[in-house]
Amino acid sequence: MNNLSFATIHELSQALKDKKISVSELISFFSQQFSEHDGALKSALEIFSQESIEHELKNASATSLLSGIPGLIKDNICQKGRIASCSSKMLENYRASYDATAIERLKAVGAPLLGRANMDEFAMGSSTETSAFFKTANPWDISRVPGGSSGGSAACVAAGLVPWALGSDTGGSVRQPASFCNIVGSKPTYGLVSRYGLIAYASSLDQIGVLTRTVHDNAVVMSEIAGHDERDSTSLRVKKTDYTQFLQRKLPAGLKIGVVTNAFEAEGMDADVVKRLQDVLAVYEKSGAVIKRLSLPAMDYGAAVYFMVSRAEAASNLARFDGIRYGYRDTDAKTLSDVYVNDRSHGFGAEVKRRILIGNYALSSGHADAYYQSAKTVQALMRQQFLQAFKEVDLLFMPTTPSGAFKFGAFDNDRLKMDLQDYFNASANLTGVPALSIPAGFTSDGLPVGFQLIGPDLSEGLLFNAAYAYEQQTPWHTMMPPAYSSKK
Ligand code: GLN
Repeated sequence: MNNLSFATIHELSQALKDKKISVSELISFFSQQFSEHDGALKSALEIFSQESIEHELKNASATSLLSGIPGLIKDNICQKGRIASCSSKMLENYRASYDATAIERLKAVGAPLLGRANMDEFAMGSSTETSAFFKTANPWDISRVPGGSSGGSAACVAAGLVPWALGSDTGGSVRQPASFCNIVGSKPTYGLVSRYGLIAYASSLDQIGVLTRTVHDNAVVMSEIAGHDERDSTSLRVKKTDYTQFLQRKLPAGLKIGVVTNAFEAEGMDADVVKRLQDVLAVYEKSGAVIKRLSLPAMDYGAAVYFMVSRAEAASNLARFDGIRYGYRDTDAKTLSDVYVNDRSHGFGAEVKRRILIGNYALSSGHADAYYQSAKTVQALMRQQFLQAFKEVDLLFMPTTPSGAFKFGAFDNDRLKMDLQDYFNASANLTGVPALSIPAGFTSDGLPVGFQLIGPDLSEGLLFNAAYAYEQQTPWHTMMPPAYSSKK
């Protein structure tokens, strides 16, 4: 292992086993990565003290590959006693009184949780620009965004500041930043990872996902956090599974991959991205996959349906932040009504307020049928089309994003265009099926490109297998952002 900061979980775990390094040293090494190299990126909101991180390891009751390997947590996932701000002024000082189930499981195997990752406010965005605190940069080009909303989680992993991070994916928020940063991002089947302790944005779509530099690392972390939890009523009755057992260089014989043709015809598709994805298909074909072409017409409405459903649920979920039980309190308020108005006006940023307004409008009497109900009808149609497609093919293949990472402020005057970032991603959330974004190479400007594999419900094993088979034949996962590659 010549470069500790870009080592895999497996390599780090081996170094711990061989006593080449201790857990305390690993924690201090990776904490130092943030103090020395996060200045231009600003991926972390906070790195905890070494003492408090080690204190949390005291209750670990099991061991796994992840024992002793540090990670960073998106700031909408509750860690007991720590702030969980959702990068919002509204929750700037809110301390979680309990651990999310995913966090509890990570602590149980002694995975050190280093701190809190920056994000779009309440996970609403595609660039991490809506964080109330600061913007995070892309390690491949710091004049560009890392994607979002899990932009902090993606940037720190890509820059080798930490081996893994948790994010959340409601309409692409793990996969899109993973694609922008040349890393692997997973969005599990809805209900596979408990939402207990994940601060809700759009509950019927929200899932915690994992960001790592390799497919193997991703499977390691997913194996720890997935599985039934009685504290989440939407949790599936699925036993804990070791997903690393599916990682084989060979594809299952006769694997059928369905290229979603209408995705490639989408407006604004960058020619370089199309080329990279064609190269990916050639690798799969050489490995024995049968490539089919099919179209999923209902998917074309994915961004619009996602727009309505997510705003409606956000309006309802965020109603709880009234400054009384939770959140920012304006000290000048004189009446109860002032308390609500001032707290919500000052506590929420512009994007969050816009979404609450649209959501309440879409749910209001006289409009709910036209907006919310129509969206739910098309959502059901999307699910039907996806299930139909999975009778013909094993996995679906499409882009993760139409282009490489964009510049800061690129969509300031065209918010609707920013929403098109969700076009390829939202359909997996709306249909509930699992998806991975995997590095596919670079554009001619040197910006990372990702591709997306989508499978039927609970096909995580097959997805990891197919992703691993591709990764093992390509060099992308070994490439480091030039500005960060020579650090120790
Ligand atoms: N970009 C999407 C949005 O702005 C996705 C967000 C997410 O998955 N949390 O809502």
